[in-house]
Amino acid sequence: MSPGGLAERLSKFMDEFVYPAELEFQTDVVSAGPADWPQVADRLAAEARRRGLWNALLAIGDGRTLSESELAPLLEITGWSPFLAADALNLSTPDSENILLLQSRGTKEQADEWLEPLLEARIRSSYCMTEPGAAGSNPASISTRIESRGSDLVITGTKHWCTGAASPRCKLLIVLGVSDPEAPKDRRHSLVLVPADAPGVRIDGHRSVFGYREGHRGGRSTVTFDAVTVPRSAYLGPPGEGLSLAQTLLGPARLHHCMRLIGVGERALQLLCERALGRRVGSGVLADEGVVQGWISDARIAIDHLRALVRHTAVLLDQGEDPDIAVRLSVLKASAPGSIERIVDRAIQAFGADGLSHELPLAMLWTYARTLRISDGPDEIHRRVVVRAELRKARAVKL
Ligand SMILES: Cc1cc2nc3c(=O)[nH]c(=O)nc-3n(C[C@H](O)[C@H](O)[C@H](O)COP(=O)(O)OP(=O)(O)OC[C@H]3O[C@@H](n4cnc5c(N)ncnc54)[C@H](O)[C@@H]3O)c2cc1C
Repeated sequence: MSPGGLAERLSKFMDEFVYPAELEFQTDVVSAGPADWPQVADRLAAEARRRGLWNALLAIGDGRTLSESELAPLLEITGWSPFLAADALNLSTPDSENILLLQSRGTKEQADEWLEPLLEARIRSSYCMTEPGAAGSNPASISTRIESRGSDLVITGTKHWCTGAASPRCKLLIVLGVSDPEAPKDRRHSLVLVPADAPGVRIDGHRSVFGYREGHRGGRSTVTFDAVTVPRSAYLGPPGEGLSLAQTLLGPARLHHCMRLIGVGERALQLLCERALGRRVGSGVLADEGVVQGWISDARIAIDHLRALVRHTAVLLDQGEDPDIAVRLSVLKASAPGSIERIVDRAIQAFGADGLSHELPLAMLWTYARTLRISDGPDEIHRRVVVRAELRKARAVKL
């Protein structure tokens, strides 16, 4: 299927199945515990399979992975309902990123054991990096240990905010830990594949996000590893390459979030306009108010700027030749969530109290944008990357 044909079929699926199911999904998610899984997500996944859309955004036809440029408009479409579309199409975080990691760096045995079941969603996974005692924005500071003992690896440490870990469907934990504390700083860490039911693994301490307990993705949990033993073959990629592999995972993931954010912004703008035209205030409607007109124009301008930046960054990532690609990703990640959050916030304002309710998608859309100002690197870290690059350039210029 061509990416163009895929876009058409995806839009039809969103119109016919995803938007009509949103209220049921949002009602479920408000009350779900970490072990619950809204039935509506399974129902939509079954429909996506019937329509050839399951995994379609992970691989295409002959198994070729879609390029970032091809993916951009498709993920934008899913961004109109980011949580439900992700569950329906096998694009949930962190499964889609873990799938990419296993596809690119997993051995044949690892792919057979974990990748196939993840692609079929027979199992789900979690990514365990952030620790309570270390700044999550600096993964080099984590301290979970991966020790070699004969032909085994022994893992000891505590992670928190692990998305999806508490789901009964979660069978795989991808863990970042220190495998060689004496190595140079960027060679100390490794990734290890750990079965979620391995002796010594404890999953508890579930957190909510703005009150959402996120049952649809197994919550956000604390995972303790108490001398958990796995064979050496559980290393994902070569030992010592954990940090660079984590970056490989996070770079495209950040861009994908920004692709979805464009859809989030479009949805919020559409709802804002509908409300502005429909809500009578005084002798006219909200759309007659200068302040609301400002919100609409600001939103269109911001979305168009961001879309151009997203598409340009996607092309650069595809070409793979830009030495400053990390800086370009940071420019995007530092700006997109905040800009889109403001658009959703104004749409909420236009709806008054109804805008805050789970009966409209706006509260969840806002949560998505706001959360992204922290996860996958807080705004300030990405701004710091941009500042450093600018100062480096300035120092190199002799006036
Ligand atoms: C919804 C959600 C899901 C998540 N899922 C996962 C997951 O699946 N797996 C996982 O491992 N982790 C996950 N995380 C954790 C996430 O990766 C971290 O929260 C993030 O990296 C920030 O780390 P921290 O919370 O420790 O904040 P800190 O690193 O303590 O930073 C706190 C604040 O300090 C400021 N700051 C930090 N460093 C600097 C600096 N150098 N300069 C200036 N300001 C700075 C920023 O404002 C930042 O927001 C998730 C988080 C959220 C919110």
